[in-house]
Amino acid sequence: MFADLHLHTQFSDGTYSPEEMVSQARLHGLAALALTDHDTVEGCPRTAQACEAAGIEFIPGTELTAEQNGNELHILGYFIDIRNPGLLEEIGKFQHVRQNRIREMVARLNRLNVPLRAEAVFALANCRAPGRPHVARALVQAGLCASLDEAFERFLKKNRPAFVPKFKMSAADAIELIHAAGGVAVMAHPGLNRTDEVIPGMVEAGLDGIECFHTKHSTATAARYLELADRFHLLVTGGSDCHGLSKGRPLIGTVKLPYQHVEKLRAKAEERKAAATVSP
Ligand SMILES: [Zn+2]
Ligand SMILES: [Zn+2]
Repeated sequence: MFADLHLHTQFSDGTYSPEEMVSQARLHGLAALALTDHDTVEGCPRTAQACEAAGIEFIPGTELTAEQNGNELHILGYFIDIRNPGLLEEIGKFQHVRQNRIREMVARLNRLNVPLRAEAVFALANCRAPGRPHVARALVQAGLCASLDEAFERFLKKNRPAFVPKFKMSAADAIELIHAAGGVAVMAHPGLNRTDEVIPGMVEAGLDGIECFHTKHSTATAARYLELADRFHLLVTGGSDCHGLSKGRPLIGTVKLPYQHVEKLRAKAEERKAAATVSP
């Protein structure tokens, strides 16, 4: 039995609807999956429903944008209570900031005589957590760029004229937020960040696990993080980070995490939930 614990849908920057993603998961024979859209839990109810119909175990999750020592990090939260008021309030602030960032990017494009409207981006994104990929898609849709690559290269990449830095909470705050919602906090794709020096500080802040298996981790990278997980007594997770068709081919099914890791994650979440209910 296998799981994929890192998946995106249309509720952030993926292209699949929850139903499409679940039918793909079914094709690949997954026993369990976690939805980890960026800075939102909006897609969880529909994904849960689709999973139930397909006989797949659903794990509610999110991927929070955070930073530690000036480095952008993504913190995955698993088994979170998606109705937790503190979580929803923080996520709401995040989404507001994301929407303002879209407006700022569009304003910069307009100053460059690129006539894109923010409303066109919001209409295309049709979710509460819009991001740069949506601006890129809107530029292509409006015929202002020939491809997503061109949109990023000319305007949206860091150090390009329409780039606007993303607001990030501290990694410690992200971990605390996930714990307060009864969830387990996991560092996403450490091999992409190449900032292993931040890991001890995050362990100190209560980090529960590390994503050892990821589409962009080589076998050697996965082995390095398995060793780190062992050293710091962290749980091991893995997932494809599938964004549907937006990054070429769909990645779901390319990373298959043995189910025993899901059981350990669930046991930790039960501990976290017990702790979250006793604390004031
Ligand atoms: Zn990420
Ligand atoms: Zn992701």
